[in-house]
Amino acid sequence: MGAHKIAIIGIGKISQDQHLPVIAKDKNFELSAIVSQRGFQYEGAPTFRTPAELYAALPEVEAVAICTPPHVRRSVAKEALAAGKHVLLEKPPTPTTAELVDLAQQATKRGRVIFATWHSRYNAAVDEAKRRLAGRKLRSLSIDWKEDVRRWHPGQEWIWDAGNFGVFDPGVNALSILTKIAPGPMFVKSATLEFPANRETPIAASLVFSSTGAESPASRLVAEFDWRQEGEQSWNIDIETNEGEALRLTHGGSKLFVNSALALEAPMAEYEAIYRHFAELLAANRSAIDGAPLQLVADAFLVARRVETASFNW
Ligand code: NAP
Repeated sequence: MGAHKIAIIGIGKISQDQHLPVIAKDKNFELSAIVSQRGFQYEGAPTFRTPAELYAALPEVEAVAICTPPHVRRSVAKEALAAGKHVLLEKPPTPTTAELVDLAQQATKRGRVIFATWHSRYNAAVDEAKRRLAGRKLRSLSIDWKEDVRRWHPGQEWIWDAGNFGVFDPGVNALSILTKIAPGPMFVKSATLEFPANRETPIAASLVFSSTGAESPASRLVAEFDWRQEGEQSWNIDIETNEGEALRLTHGGSKLFVNSALALEAPMAEYEAIYRHFAELLAANRSAIDGAPLQLVADAFLVARRVETASFNW
């Protein structure tokens, strides 16, 4: 089978950092076009201002990767499915859980593949942590996902708009790892969300979980997300099992320490793995939508106590 003709919609940071270079070196895909409202130009592929213009001009395009901010993703995805395209969604796939269910149904109805990606899941250390946790119980869990919003999201005003997740934009990456490796379903028991006085989305979140995979109802299972961390950044997950083994995933899930000794470190190739998996899904005509990380975010908003904190200005 020849390479799949694909277009990217929304050419911001992640499209330029990952999607464009990864597609360029993946023989399963051929970049046919990009869609950019602001007219971003990329050598070797034409630019269209809207998806509708792309679909009219290049009907042979089979698939689109949607890399816009989340709040518009469902309508862009629906339009793509209606045009007969397979769809790859950046994370988080939609602002609400019902929209994700709807997209899955639309894809089934139209016989198209839809793939909700969670890039942080594609690390060998995450797979190894999952393997080590299988059949065990969580004695404790502590997630620290703390970064400097000014460093990683400079000028991205949309992250502060309701429906665009705030600190859960990175936090959902930790939740995507957690929901992959945990030995049982996770539930949000309580949460505190800190909203800057002048913004619509939280800048920090503290979550307490329960789980059928916990050793006991008293097991301490917590997560701290914070966008105000200057200096060293933290993307760590610490787990102690019922057998006393200490697992520590660091660097966003790319390194695994077991009882303080480095057990696995592999170079990050998350998007290479995402596109490899997309090619497999297309070959099998199968969709992959796991809404579990999004569900935990939604549940955190449902049970949260809201606290107002200092205004945020860039
Ligand atoms: P970004 O730099 O702001 O880029 C988003 C792009 O989407 C914009 O440049 C714009 O591109 C397009 N866009 C903006 N508003 C739009 C609207 N209302 N309707 C349609 N298109 C719109 O954001 P990003 O960092 O790339 O993040 C995009 C998504 O990728 C987020 O969901 C984020 O969680 C995820 N992600 C980001 C990173 C990262 O390192 N930044 C890592 C992994 C995943 P055009 O002008 O070309 O249309």
